[in-house]
Amino acid sequence: MMMRRAATALRREALRDGRLLRGVCTSPSPSDSTEEMSILKKMCRDFADEHLRPIAGELDREHRFPAEQIAQMGQLGLMGIAIPMEWGGTGMDYVAYAVAMEEISRGCASTGVIMSVNNSLYCDPVYRYGSDEQKKEWLTPFADGSRLGCFGLSEPGNGSDAAAASTTARREGDEWVLNGTKAWITNAHDAHAAIVIATTDKSLKHKGLSAFIVPTDARGFSVGKKEDKLGIRASSTGNLIMEECRIPASHLLGKEGEGFKVGMTTLDGGRIGIAAQALGIAQASLECAVEYAQVRKAFDAPISKLQAVQFKLADMALRVEAARLLTHRAAALKSAAQPYTKEAAMAKLAASEAATANAHAAIQVLGGMGYVTDMPAERFYRDARITEIYEGTSEIQRLVIAGQVLKEYAM
Ligand SMILES: Cc1cc2nc3c(=O)[nH]c(=O)nc-3n(C[C@H](O)[C@H](O)[C@H](O)COP(=O)(O)OP(=O)(O)OC[C@H]3O[C@@H](n4cnc5c(N)ncnc54)[C@H](O)[C@@H]3O)c2cc1C
Repeated sequence: MMMRRAATALRREALRDGRLLRGVCTSPSPSDSTEEMSILKKMCRDFADEHLRPIAGELDREHRFPAEQIAQMGQLGLMGIAIPMEWGGTGMDYVAYAVAMEEISRGCASTGVIMSVNNSLYCDPVYRYGSDEQKKEWLTPFADGSRLGCFGLSEPGNGSDAAAASTTARREGDEWVLNGTKAWITNAHDAHAAIVIATTDKSLKHKGLSAFIVPTDARGFSVGKKEDKLGIRASSTGNLIMEECRIPASHLLGKEGEGFKVGMTTLDGGRIGIAAQALGIAQASLECAVEYAQVRKAFDAPISKLQAVQFKLADMALRVEAARLLTHRAAALKSAAQPYTKEAAMAKLAASEAATANAHAAIQVLGGMGYVTDMPAERFYRDARITEIYEGTSEIQRLVIAGQVLKEYAM
């Protein structure tokens, strides 16, 4: 109840005078720059410490979707953080989103990705490209956390090459008829609706793609088996299968032929969410290593006295801080409606590599205890790995960054 009041106060404050964004853009340490941000950070940290960290290992072992916790997060306003209040969201900015995502993922990275997909990959495109009619039905209940969304771009035959989507949509009277399979979809088994990118005119290649809002109870829609994953095992992942799947004509999101743009702009924003998820894992790994190093003794002294261990901790802390600044920078640019494609790719690349490196280092600092499930370091290591793959692999982030840099310095 107290947290709910804090969330409501935060929403009011953020809407009232936009102090969040102004403070964030000018401060060298954005996450602590405003009172609201500190309250948000504390609220999310308290929630994660009380409701996520204690059960994260169990959720992972049992592949169990944290339904109760996601519902509580909806009540706290965490499922549509940057969506205006009139559409069920919290009306805060993307830095607030990054701060909240990091804290939730520090507690449980699976819960983090469920939250990230609903915020960035489902609510954001419906808010940006949807009509008021669509927003009423397909945004408000998702941003307020009563329903959950997912996003279907990847297919069995293409992931990085998103423009090669082979799922088709044809118009028949007042309906669109979809055929094809979307692969690896996060929240597949728990979502109430999916954004699906399908081709409406194959001859136009990426310009022939369109985006659709597909209710998961639509005729002809089903989900495949749950993937058995290395990490983020409490989130569901699977195929979305559409066989003569019929949806009303009004479910086209944006204009016909705008699907590639919807997909790519959505992924730009999504990368801020994944960067923040990775940051949460990197931070949790750092804390785990620091705490252990101070209590574990070797050669009659805590291992934290050993310079070899201290150097590891220093590198871990450095990676977290650097990635956090990049992530908040990308988030501040998005909040200010400035270009942020390069910055989001840099943030995602730096944070995901920081997460993997920190989880690897944490296991090393813990020695044998790092390798067993009594301690969370091995889970951090497994969870971190996916952040280098989804929403664009590290290779694709480097291509995006290089493309932007070559444009900036074109001769
Ligand atoms: C757990 C999980 C959850 C996911 N959730 C979603 C989701 O919710 N929605 C969704 O749409 N997708 C989702 N994905 C899919 C994910 O985005 C893709 O797996 C990812 O984009 C890579 O595509 P791919 O697997 O087809 O690999 P490929 O594209 O086949 O790539 C294989 C390798 O080739 C490299 N490569 C490919 N092209 C290039 C290039 N041009 N230059 C250099 N290297 C290249 C890649 O970097 C990679 O190393 C998820 C995947 C997983 C595993």
